[in-house]
Amino acid sequence: MVFRRAIMQGNFDSVLEPAQPGRTAKLTIRLKVALLPRDPSVAANPRAGQHPTHLANNMTQVRRGSVPDANGDPVACRSWLVHEWNAFKIQFKRIVEQTWDNQMILLPPDGAEDGLNDNDFLQLIGNPRIPAHVECALDIELMPGIAGSHAQIGVVHLASPDLSFRNFMHLISNDSAEMGSRVKDQWPGRRIYHVTAAHEVGHWLRDPSAKLYEHIDRAYAETLPADEQDDAQYGHVLSKRLAIMGSGNLATEYEAQPWLGRIRRHTGALFGWSMVHRANFAHMISTVSGRQQRLAQQPRI
Ligand SMILES: [Zn+2]
Repeated sequence: MVFRRAIMQGNFDSVLEPAQPGRTAKLTIRLKVALLPRDPSVAANPRAGQHPTHLANNMTQVRRGSVPDANGDPVACRSWLVHEWNAFKIQFKRIVEQTWDNQMILLPPDGAEDGLNDNDFLQLIGNPRIPAHVECALDIELMPGIAGSHAQIGVVHLASPDLSFRNFMHLISNDSAEMGSRVKDQWPGRRIYHVTAAHEVGHWLRDPSAKLYEHIDRAYAETLPADEQDDAQYGHVLSKRLAIMGSGNLATEYEAQPWLGRIRRHTGALFGWSMVHRANFAHMISTVSGRQQRLAQQPRI
């Protein structure tokens, strides 16, 4: 089967670059994001795709108002200044990509019966001494407007830096594209670092039929009493809490699901893929399979 190089879809696009000698195979999810500077003086429903916008050239042009956060709590906001907005967009793209990139490695099924013939398998080998694998990456393409975008995200500018605003996938705040951290009573002494914008972007890596990609422990949380669900869905054990779709920065097997879904479609190999974190992959480098050793001895066609 010939690999599909690009898949364009309403939820997100993806591109598979086969390995070249000395270069690893790479699967990039490309999310086209419309970032919209929120006009705080106008009421709107971001969940319904309403994003009134305003940019001010200077503080005298700034509009003010209170904008409800994810909990519905009104928070004092002001318009963005043009230069602040330009800086935010650059920082958003950079930190969201940095958070997701360089963590997830996909390992292909080793047996030919699982759908990769020798020729396909060779396309996942960049270095014969390193096990066949695919690097995962996220590319944020900032769009000039809503047209053609996969994700529409309003961005509020808080009226003062000490205010707190609970973000959600449709509406984030000016301090969401920075590294934050917190300590929870459940794990005393353990500081958990996160980038809110990267987490909210994760909600957009959804199935085409779903409204969002859920939090990592959503299924578990639903087994709990209603008042415990909101917190538990971010991870009831530390290994999940540390994940991007929990409240940390780690890409786990859960975060890899959108890439695993796409690699099956790009390659036609439906079974036997697994995800390993780059930190653990480093320990596997000497474990080249018998199949790969055999292929490495054949000339490339
Ligand atoms: Zn969330």
